[in-house]
Order: sequence, then C-alpha cells, then structure tokens
Amino acid sequence: MTQPGTRFAPLAGQLRPAWAEVDLAAIRHNAAVLVAEVAPARLCAVVKAAGYGHGAPEVAGAALDGGAEWLAVALVEEGRELRAAGIDAPILLLSEPASDAMAEVVDLSLTPTLYTPTGLDALVSAVGDGRQDRPFSVHVKVDTGMHRVGASVDDAVALALDVAASPALHLEGFWTHFAVSDEVDDPYTDHQVARYQQALDVLAGAGVRPAIRHAANSGGAIWHPTSRFDMVRCGIALYGLSPAADGVTRHPVPRLRPAMSLKARVSYVKAVPAGERLSYGLRYRLERDSVIATVPLGYADGVTRSLSATGGEVLVGGRRRPISGTVTMDQILVDCGPGSNVAEGDEVVLLGRQGDEEITAWEWAGRTSTIGYEVVCGISGRVPRSYLGA
Ligand SMILES: *Cc1c(COP(=O)(O)O)cnc(C)c1O
Repeated sequence: MTQPGTRFAPLAGQLRPAWAEVDLAAIRHNAAVLVAEVAPARLCAVVKAAGYGHGAPEVAGAALDGGAEWLAVALVEEGRELRAAGIDAPILLLSEPASDAMAEVVDLSLTPTLYTPTGLDALVSAVGDGRQDRPFSVHVKVDTGMHRVGASVDDAVALALDVAASPALHLEGFWTHFAVSDEVDDPYTDHQVARYQQALDVLAGAGVRPAIRHAANSGGAIWHPTSRFDMVRCGIALYGLSPAADGVTRHPVPRLRPAMSLKARVSYVKAVPAGERLSYGLRYRLERDSVIATVPLGYADGVTRSLSATGGEVLVGGRRRPISGTVTMDQILVDCGPGSNVAEGDEVVLLGRQGDEEITAWEWAGRTSTIGYEVVCGISGRVPRSYLGA
C-alpha cells in the first residue's frame, strides 16, 4: 500500500474519479467540542500518521482554529512537515527521538519526549551546539502500565529531576499514556492515573512541578475526567470517530462529526446475466440478471480486500449495495440489482453519507476485524484528498 505522506495530493488535476473528502469544518467543530468538554485542561491535537490519513497540515490548522493549543506527532519527519507548512504552534514528539535526530529537533523547535539517559545526553549536546537563548523545553514520559515506551516510575522521576537540574533544559511536561481508556468501565485506567499521580507526588516532594501534566488520549479525555490534568492528547475524537466501536455512543461522542468520506464515481456499467460469476476467484455468483457497476478504488487505495467476503457495502443512489466479488488492486464491482439505472459518473460512497444512509469507519472496521483508526489511516497516499470548509 502506498505510504501516505503528511500532505496528500489535491483533487484538482487528478484524472481518476476517486477521492477522500475531508471536512475541515468538522475538525474545527470536534476540536471545539473537546475544548469545551475538557476545560480548563488544554487540547493537544494528535496529527501523527498524516493526521490519521486526513492530511496533517490541514488538520493541524483546523484544530488550532477550533481551539487546540498543542499538536503532537510520532516522527521528527512529521514535525518537520508541519514546520515547513508554516505552523508555529508547539509540537510534541510522542516518542523519544533517535540521538542523531536531536539536532534537527532543536533546530525545528519540536518538543521532545525523553525516557532514557541516552536521549537526555543527546539532547543536551544538541542544545549545547545551538544558539538557544532560553532553556529548551522537554517532556518526560513515565510508563504507568501500558509498557510500550516510557521509563518506570523511579527512572522517570530520576530523569525528570536531571532535566530540571540541567541549565540548558526546561522540564515543561511530564506525561503517561493509557492502555484501555476506550474500555469505558475498565478500572485499569484509574490504576494508571493513580500511579501517574504517585510519580507527580514524588516530583513535587523534590520541589519539581511540571507545568503541563498530561495523560489522556481521546478515551481518557471524554470518559475519564480525572485523567485530564493540564492537557489531553486527542486523535481519533478530533476526526469525529469514537475511540470505541460503534454502539459506545456515550456523551459527548454523539456530538462529534466524522471528518472523512471516501468517494468515487462509477467508471463502467454492464448488464450481466444470471449464473455468471464475478471478479478474481469467481466467488460472487449472480442468482438473477443484474447490473454491475465498476468503481475505481481497490486494495491499493486502502479498500480492505476482506470486505468482499464479509458483507462490505457501498452507497449508490442513496442505497446500500454489496461489494460483489473480490476487491482487486484498483477496482471493485458493485451489484446494483436487476434493472438498476446506475450510470457511469454516478457518485459512490464507501465511507460517509449519501441520502439517509451512512457507512462509518467503525462499520467497515467491524467487517474487517480492526478498528476505525486503522480504516482511516489505511486510505492510501494514492487517493487524493479534497478539503471542504477550509
Ligand atoms: C496516538 C496517541 C494519542 C492519541 O490517541 P487517540 O486514541 O487517537 O486519541 C495520544 N497519545 C499518544 C502517546 C499516542 O500515541
């Protein structure tokens, strides 16, 4: 699958009638909903992985307009692209950068997360080489039970104290990350909050009180109010999707608006007689004469191949129609039913609304054994993005 860049090709000039629509008004709205929900905590908009497939600079701009004060990315390269797009808001790196990336982190004024002494040393040398007129801000990450990255409570406290003692650095933030905040009633999140608070208390005992304490992702921010501290880091909710599968529509999820739709135009239409079978493997047999539409999106665009075997549907003429036969690399077939008047150029919706019907990323995820996050991140770089509400 083509790796999406941070910024996607625009729709203008594209010859293939297939595109992802990104509603920036929805991003602004979702940011504003989250800001109101978590106040007085601040909102950090997580725009890693090309803004979850929506396009990072565009989403970042809309999120800042909606009231976000911080941005967060996974990679130094992602931070570089935001700076190149002229964004000067603070940008948090969610993992510790490689030692040889620290000079660029400093040059770009990205805010590194640290959790190893090696990372600290590399940052101190990078800052020492530069011409900083004030201490360089750092966030230290403590692992409170997810065990992906972050130092143990004791090591994180020691590292934070070293940062605080370094004249070149400023301990601006101290943070952690949750493993199950999307499982609304799981007490493990409270347990993680308690371990995090314990680490903060030890720091406070040593006279160190980081200005920005943060722990919550979307699930934490919206469903675990005690985890909000000074800032929340929201990704999926910003894009208008629930952190948990469809059906978990607890407040304030119903107020969020999905920002991404995936659309194409019918490229070819033919009548196919009963008894014929369709696409690779001939796995879809027509029980009656029917009208089959070809739609120019396939698995190289992120349309999961298993959708055809698991009841995947698209919207055509305001109705649900089955993806009929195996999803191919560049195209799918849609059984529009006997006598259908579907025509070349008709709009087809794979994700989003048409008439009264809607196909959500979580519906698609449910059919393909994944989560809504992976569906939107998986819409590949080959699909141009069309921005609405800019
Ligand atoms: C991706 C990520 C987030 C955002 O998570 P959502 O569930 O999308 O809100 C927050 N914090 C960290 C450390 C992350 O990696």
